[in-house]
Amino acid sequence: MSNSSVSQITSLTALQLAARLRGRDLTVTQALDAYYAAIDAKEPAYHCYTSLCREHAYARAAQVQARLDAGDVRSPLAGVPLAVKDLICTKGLETTCASRMLAGFVPPYDAAVIEKTAAADMILLGKTNMDEFAMGSTTETSAAGATRNPRNPDHVPGGSSGGSAAAVAAKEAPIALGSDTGGSIRQPCAYCGVTGLKPTYGAVSRYGLIAYASSLDQIGPIGRDAADCAALFGIIRGRDPRDGTSVELPPDTPKPVQGLRVGLPREFFGEGLQPEVAAAVLAARDRLAALGAQIVTLSLPLAAYAIPTYYIIACAEACSNLSRYDGIKYGHWSRDAENLRETYVRSRSEGFGMEVKRRIMLGNFVLSSGYFDAYYKKALQAKRLIQQGFFEAFGRCDVILGPVAPTTAPRLGESLADPLKMYLSDIYTVMVNLAGLPALAVPCGEDSAGLPVGLQLIGQPFDEATLFSAGYGLAS
Ligand code: GLN
Repeated sequence: MSNSSVSQITSLTALQLAARLRGRDLTVTQALDAYYAAIDAKEPAYHCYTSLCREHAYARAAQVQARLDAGDVRSPLAGVPLAVKDLICTKGLETTCASRMLAGFVPPYDAAVIEKTAAADMILLGKTNMDEFAMGSTTETSAAGATRNPRNPDHVPGGSSGGSAAAVAAKEAPIALGSDTGGSIRQPCAYCGVTGLKPTYGAVSRYGLIAYASSLDQIGPIGRDAADCAALFGIIRGRDPRDGTSVELPPDTPKPVQGLRVGLPREFFGEGLQPEVAAAVLAARDRLAALGAQIVTLSLPLAAYAIPTYYIIACAEACSNLSRYDGIKYGHWSRDAENLRETYVRSRSEGFGMEVKRRIMLGNFVLSSGYFDAYYKKALQAKRLIQQGFFEAFGRCDVILGPVAPTTAPRLGESLADPLKMYLSDIYTVMVNLAGLPALAVPCGEDSAGLPVGLQLIGQPFDEATLFSAGYGLAS
């Protein structure tokens, strides 16, 4: 396949590609050939994937092509290749969470989102790189090595879904799935200049998602634009009896941008925000106003407590979720151990990386007797108040607009040296997970170095449709 036909195919959005496949201008195999050629050419520079599944993909392509030829079109994205973050279980294909702990783990079942995208005739290209167990904001804590930002490879792609966002930005995938516990879809989208949705908690089944912090985790789409994300969200959402927190969504009733009340919290534009990021987000505010939106200034007074609240709750849940990796039931087993205790200690010491260990220690600390009330219980109370703050704000507005992150993508290596600083960069995203709300990250400009800036639109529960309609408005 020539370079120009590869770039013609990989430049299409997922919906444009699907239309070509339906119109029989292209075959599914040609689409796969183009993407695997792009991957072969660009992976040495960016390292978006932890593994590829060519054989599986071409076998699926033949089945999907037969259906398209017969006019049996199963979804708006039928035939479209898909990249999937490597913490979503794929039957028969290695799923590592970018950790030594799960090296070689081949799940015996598919996650709900994998079943749904397969039923929609999407085709898995491979698994994408991430921060180990989704803990991090740069994809540098991956045991497989860092991913680089396709917009400037000296910079990080963000994280933890950095591989998925970078794959979409580098045109190594038309569309991808990521997961967001405290910003892991939105922040890498902002850093790489692509679009991504963190759905309302409960909108998408977590069955088969390897847990980080179960009360905050959500799987969501990452795409070239809001329309692609809406199409993939339409495929993966809905109730699943295997995830008791998932719910059936009400029918979409998007509010038009004309007359939309857009809230700007003062706390999102204060100290620590890179001036170029503020300027790009405020320019987007002006574009929304020009489209007829009504701008409302408001306050989220508990924003200052979001980071400690999030890190206490996330680490508490993580240390409990990760206790299953004991060297016996799952994952890395240290064979030199001489007794049971040593098996636990050695397997976990060897299997987990630094950041994961730090969080396990933090989590055990805040849950230990004597500290439980002071930290964990307090954090749950703060979470409730943060949620209430949002609901009060939604009395005055329909969506909330803010930056995704205080800065554009840091340089590789900068964040690892100072984990606290890295945690602080989650300031605008973690609140949304604590409140269980949906939020769409949309590119809105560049800084003076040419690095992308992203904004987020935060919505009311299950009102993803309004976020998408404002997202289209901003892009057009
Ligand atoms: N950066 C945040 C953390 O490290 C968020 C990660 C995520 O959403 N998975 O916990």
